[in-house]
Amino acid sequence: MVNGYQATSLKEALDILGREPSVVPYGGGTDLMIEADDNATYLFLSKVPEMKQITEDTDYVRLGAACTFTEIMESELAPSLLKEAVFQIAAPAIRNLGTIGGNICNGSPKADSALVFVATDAKLRLASRRGERVIPISEFYLGRKKTVLAEDELLAEVLMNKSGLDNYYYKKVGARDALAISRVSFAAVLTTAEDKIVNCMTAFGAVSDVIIKRADIDALLTGKTLAEAKAIKEEYLAAYKQAIVPIRGRISAEYRKAVCMNLLNDFLLSKGI
Ligand SMILES: Cc1cc2nc3c(=O)[nH]c(=O)nc-3n(C[C@H](O)[C@H](O)[C@H](O)COP(=O)(O)OP(=O)(O)OC[C@H]3O[C@@H](n4cnc5c(N)ncnc54)[C@H](O)[C@@H]3O)c2cc1C
Repeated sequence: MVNGYQATSLKEALDILGREPSVVPYGGGTDLMIEADDNATYLFLSKVPEMKQITEDTDYVRLGAACTFTEIMESELAPSLLKEAVFQIAAPAIRNLGTIGGNICNGSPKADSALVFVATDAKLRLASRRGERVIPISEFYLGRKKTVLAEDELLAEVLMNKSGLDNYYYKKVGARDALAISRVSFAAVLTTAEDKIVNCMTAFGAVSDVIIKRADIDALLTGKTLAEAKAIKEEYLAAYKQAIVPIRGRISAEYRKAVCMNLLNDFLLSKGI
């Protein structure tokens, strides 16, 4: 028997959490079920309408944190890169339950939708009954399973840029095709205008304690033509070779690093660099 509150509005959810910060937010429970705690009281978010919507404004596609992977896949507004990553998550049963909010807040470097949000510089709307703040996802993670989320705060919404995400690359290297937790995953976007690279965004998942994002290295390609980018490709790859320091686990660090470099090179080649 699971104890909990079923909130039916964001305000109600935030009031409950503000009153009882020990209550555990519950999206689909697919991560929580691994370490189910019989004594915990849960706050079920699946009936909070404000967290189930996918909308757009001038600049952003706004994805409610309690949207499931299936709902993302079925949305006409969700960017193709996100859909492609989500489509490769587990099997339909998990995709019907698992939410993007849970994927982000669980704080795992293997989280596949979080990888896309980090790669594309998404923003997070965090809410508590004290108020709201919108932060870049680059400021959200403090370490493995550690985030800046306060005890009384919920992730309400994820904001993805509406434009500039079309020319993407995504690969998840898993142990098997289905039900695979990523060994190494990689998402990238290259945006060009008038023959020049205006933005290169990359991120590596399942390699280190947190998703690896190095905007400073990617910036080496900004403002370059494809030919100029080719000329400094070795410098760019060398910078990543130094920056990627995989943790040891069941998979050797050397293997992870070799896969990362292969994926990065393949991304560049696929974009004519
Ligand atoms: C068999 C299996 C296969 C899997 N395969 C994959 C895979 O291929 N790729 C992948 O990325 N993941 C995978 N997962 C992990 C999991 O399904 C995902 O991380 C999923 O997104 C978790 O979402 P959830 O809603 O179920 O999270 P929950 O379990 O409900 O919550 C996870 C954590 O986030 C917190 N939380 C949830 N929502 C919020 C919110 N809105 N605000 C604040 N805190 C919140 C919870 O308190 C908890 O700490 C797999 C899991 C299983 C069991």
